[in-house]
Amino acid sequence: MYNSVILHETERRSNSLPPATTPGTTQTMWKAIPRPLQMTNMPAKQPREEMATPEGEVSELDYEVVLLDIEGTTTPITFVKDVLFPLAKNNVRRFLERNWDSAQCQEDVLALKIQAENDKDVDGVVSILDSDNDHKDIIIESVVKNVIWQMNSDRKTTALKQLQGHIWREAYENEEIKGDLFEDVLPAFKYWTSNNIKIFIYSSGSIDAQRLLFGNSTFGDLLKYISGHFDTKVGAKTEPKSYKAISDIIHTKPSRILFVTDVTKEARAAFEAGFTTAISIRPGNAELTKTEKGSFRTIATFNELYEPMTEDSPAKKTAKTDEKDFI
Ligand SMILES: [Mg+2]
Repeated sequence: MYNSVILHETERRSNSLPPATTPGTTQTMWKAIPRPLQMTNMPAKQPREEMATPEGEVSELDYEVVLLDIEGTTTPITFVKDVLFPLAKNNVRRFLERNWDSAQCQEDVLALKIQAENDKDVDGVVSILDSDNDHKDIIIESVVKNVIWQMNSDRKTTALKQLQGHIWREAYENEEIKGDLFEDVLPAFKYWTSNNIKIFIYSSGSIDAQRLLFGNSTFGDLLKYISGHFDTKVGAKTEPKSYKAISDIIHTKPSRILFVTDVTKEARAAFEAGFTTAISIRPGNAELTKTEKGSFRTIATFNELYEPMTEDSPAKKTAKTDEKDFI
C-alpha cells in the first residue's frame, strides 16, 4: 500500500533545487536547521550532505523530506477534539439511518458487532442486536449506544475508526466540514514541493482520514503536494523503529528527513532513529516543559524551516545546546 504511493513519488524525484535567490537582494543564505541535541550515549549523527543549487550555490537546507504530524502541527488540536469527534458522535444515528441499506454500512455494522462480541467481558460494553431477528430501528439504537460507549471510553478499535471515517467522509463531501489547517501550511507546501522537498504525513489518524482532511481543507485540495501518508500501521509514533521503517519505505536516509510534531516523545523516537526533528508550538498545544524547550528545536510556523535569509536578516536562531537538560 505504502510502496505503491512511494514508488510513484520516487519516480518524480529530482536532485535539483530552484534558484536560491530573493528579488532585490544580492546574496541569499538559507536559514540553517540546527542539529537536534546529542543525547547522552547517543551515537553521533552522520555528517550532513549539502545540497547544491543549479547555480552551484550551497544551501544550508539539510533535509530532502519533511514528515509532518497533523494534530498540533498542521492542524489545531481543537479541530479533532472539538469538531471531528463531536461530529461523529452526534451523527451516528443520522448516518446509519441514511445509509443503512448500503453494503458499506452493513459492513461497518458487522465489524462493530464482531467487536462488541469480542468486548463481551469489558466493563460497560453495549451489545449490538441481531440484524436477522430485530427491527432496524432497534438495531440502529443498539449500534448508536455501542459507538457512543466506545467513544466515551476513548477506544481506538478498527471497527469504530472505520465507521467514524465514513461519517467524516459524508460530512466532508457535503461540505459540512473542511479540514482545518494553519495559515502557513499552504505556503510551506508550495515552497517545499517547488524546491523538491517531498512532504509525507505521519499521523495516528487513519490514512483515509488524513486524505479527507488534506483533500477537503480550508485551502482546497492539497493532496497533490503530498507524496505519501503513514498511520500507525507502520508502527507507534513513539517507537524509533517506526521511523526507521518510514525511512526504508521512502528510500531516504534518516538524517535527510525532518520530522515535525508537537509531541516530544515522538520527536525523541524520531531522533533516536537518526531523523532531524522540530517541535511545533501552535495555539492550543500542550505547554512544553522548560526541559523540553531546552532540548528540542521549536518552531511557531513552518517558514522557520526554510525561509531564505539575506545578509541583512536578523541573526540565525541557534540551537539550544544544553544537553544535560534532556530527560
Ligand atoms: Mg500531534
